[in-house]
Amino acid sequence: MARYTGPVCRICRRHGLKLFLKGERCFGPKCAIERRNFPPGDHGQRRRKFSEYANQLKEKQKARYVYGVLERQFRKHFQEAERQPGMTGANLLRVLERRLDNVVYRLGFADSRRQARQLVRHGHFAINGRRTDIPSALVKANDVVSVTPKGRELEYFKIVQEGLAQKAPPSWLELDPAGMGGRVLNLPGRDVIEAHVNEQLIVEFYSR
Ligand code: SF4
Repeated sequence: MARYTGPVCRICRRHGLKLFLKGERCFGPKCAIERRNFPPGDHGQRRRKFSEYANQLKEKQKARYVYGVLERQFRKHFQEAERQPGMTGANLLRVLERRLDNVVYRLGFADSRRQARQLVRHGHFAINGRRTDIPSALVKANDVVSVTPKGRELEYFKIVQEGLAQKAPPSWLELDPAGMGGRVLNLPGRDVIEAHVNEQLIVEFYSR
């Protein structure tokens, strides 16, 4: 299956909440959830009852769209989460948060994960000084993610740097605006992960 390239606001409307897939627009009055908070389509406003399976599937799809991950990659992340000790659901969210594209987004170098993914794909980021263009690369505690020296010359990053002082990354990341990068202080627990996802339903989906 190819990556979803359709209108992303429909995904938010389908799930009935803001998934912040579009960057700045998500915070303004043009957000589709602000204007039409009901499911898309001709029968969007009809009341429907979903089966248990449908709810589990919807939750899994929601997490996939939030983090911009295809099914195969998502399943790999789930398998990785299963191998780790502790709760599989919380482990899964931690693995998703550790993705390089997510860290770039969380640090404030991009307005959305989609944009962060593109910046990584174009080779503008390095982990511990080593350039990588793999959005699914997982960071570890104490890793340093930074914009490459070549990337810093771009107008885009000069503008981003001016606004970095106003960014507030999550507690598990430390932003270094002058160094155009950030450090992973520790791996995030479920309590500090801002994701409106019921991970238990995802675990149930894959346990069927
Ligand atoms: Fe979702 Fe953002 Fe579109 Fe609002 S603007 S519906 S939050 S993607």
